[in-house]
Parts: sequence; structure tokens; C-alpha cells
Amino acid sequence: MQVEIIGANSALAEEGLNSSLLIRGGDHVILADCGYNIYPRLQLLDYVEDITAVLLSHLHQDHCGSAVTLLEDIVLTQKRSVYIGGTDWTPLLHACEEPGFISQLMTDNYPFDLETFSVPHGKGMDCRALFIGGKILYSGDTAISLLDTPQAQKASLIVHDATLHCGIPHAYLKDMANAPAEIKAKTILTHYLPQNYKKMAEAAREYGFKGVARAGDVFEV
Ligand SMILES: [Zn+2]
Repeated sequence: MQVEIIGANSALAEEGLNSSLLIRGGDHVILADCGYNIYPRLQLLDYVEDITAVLLSHLHQDHCGSAVTLLEDIVLTQKRSVYIGGTDWTPLLHACEEPGFISQLMTDNYPFDLETFSVPHGKGMDCRALFIGGKILYSGDTAISLLDTPQAQKASLIVHDATLHCGIPHAYLKDMANAPAEIKAKTILTHYLPQNYKKMAEAAREYGFKGVARAGDVFEV
């Protein structure tokens, strides 16, 4: 499988793209999260026609803000059906009443391996970590480190949100640093403000993480 980082930044970044990954494996091209500036980026990269599944960790705008537009392009323009999953999409789909749209969205019997599990984040917000293909763990947004989960043990690559500051609903980097060295060595940090990249990269090096995600990075797993 191949993982491409489409975006690695948090909401409110003046420049930079929302956290999002594209996973290519077998016959499937799976997008994990599609925040408000991701669909235009996918168009620019010419990737929209490749996408067969869209998974969302949760319904904050920096994770779902252009997802319905992407689906409308795939279903209404390209006339394809598409798998969707992760958190419950129902509130988003109320926004699109185009006849036939909902019927082309496939929500189960996935032809790829997908496990999701609930993680704490915003109050009242269903937020799901995504474990894809039995190899890639994507945290979405989580207030706690997922590096002690069985999925982290099994994963070949972990893409995990991280914050330098304690007290906001993202995993605190210093807590994540308590994980075993072999887990940190396969963990890429994401969801940061662009101006914090240098500090994140220094901390990642100091604590023994694999690195800090940047748009365009590609990993073979
Ligand atoms: Zn969020």
C-alpha cells in the first residue's frame, strides 16, 4: 500500500492544507478526511477520478468541509458509486438533496479492510480513528495518545495528530513521547499550524518519532 499525505495542517492555518491522506492499495484509492481546502487540491492533483472510498474521522470542517462536494463530483458528474465510512455522515448528507445521490453511496460490505474506533475530541462530537488495511492507523483528531492501542501495535504506519501545547483537544506531544521507541519510530505527526513545523520537527527528532507529515510526502507500507 502507498500512503500520500494530501495535507497536514490544522484549522485556521493561513496557508497549508487540512489533515488528509490518500491510500492506494489493490483496486482501491481511499481518502481519509476531506476538509474545507482538500477537494480543490485533489482536483489540482488530478486525483478525483481515482478515488473509490471516502472516510471521515469526524464532522469538524477541517476534516469534512469539502467531502460532499467531492462526492457530488464523483456521483453526479462522473456517474460512479463510492464507498463512504468512518463517522456517521447523516448530518452532512442532509445538505445534498439531488435525486439519486444518496443511493450511490455504499456504506458497508467494504472491499477493503477497515476498522474504526471512537476517540475523545470535541464535546458531543463522534470522532473515529481509522485503521485501514490492517496497516495504517490514522488518529483523525484525538485528545489522547492512541500509541498504546492494539491497532498501534499492529500498524506499519501511524499518522497521528499532535500538539505542542497541553490543554486543547489534541494529543499532547509530551504524552505521546512516553510510547515505546518502536511505536514512535513508525509514527508521523500531523495536524499542526505551518508556523510550528520547525518546532514540531525538532521535537519529533528529540523524542524519536518517524517525522512530521508534509503535503506530498509518500510512504510505502
Ligand atoms: Zn476536530
